[in-house]
Amino acid sequence: MARRFDGPTLAIASHNEGKVREIRDLLSPFRIVVASAGGLGLPEPVEDGTSFAENAAIKAREIAQGSGLPALADDSGLVVDALGGAPGIYSARWAGPEKDFRRAMDRVEAGLAGQPDRTAAFVCVLALAWPDGGLERFEGRVAGRLVCPPRGTRGFGYDPMFLPEGGFETFGEMAPEAKHAISHRARAFRKLVAACFEAIA
Ligand code: IMP
Repeated sequence: MARRFDGPTLAIASHNEGKVREIRDLLSPFRIVVASAGGLGLPEPVEDGTSFAENAAIKAREIAQGSGLPALADDSGLVVDALGGAPGIYSARWAGPEKDFRRAMDRVEAGLAGQPDRTAAFVCVLALAWPDGGLERFEGRVAGRLVCPPRGTRGFGYDPMFLPEGGFETFGEMAPEAKHAISHRARAFRKLVAACFEAIA
């Protein structure tokens, strides 16, 4: 059985503003005080794992130890079938040090030239770590296909090129609530809530 989070303060082990914003939205129905790793003055952990699950655990553990608080980390990315799963765990790095996602989406588009297969998925692993080393992890995934050129200015990262299965709007065109209903992050989050957040619902 998963370990319960009994609050009240949770550190968010991310320096990515788009992600922190979505995680804050998802946590808003719960009696949780949110502290961001950046706000706590903690440095960004080095993500040298070889999977979403490893990187999520690295980030959550480092921030839990640095803050003395339970910490929630998200490792996520875009997995493109015709690119052999790339950019995957390198999704953030494809945008370069200046975090230019137009450039990252151009790189995906260039890789897909002449490829009829446009299927892709967003994957998210959430890790909840305690300062004593305890760890719980949950995965969420949403399937879809990529559109070129990208559409919409909402969301963050690769959202404008991702059309979820059965949908008509890209994540970059959708209202935040519509994305939260189906996204990889929301799906992982629902598993986390069911397993760990019952006490503070
Ligand atoms: P990391 O987990 O911090 O290594 O970064 C994950 C990267 O994957 C982000 O910087 C985005 O580029 C991409 N990504 C993850 N989730 C989303 C999403 O919900 N929308 C768009 N891009 C995402």
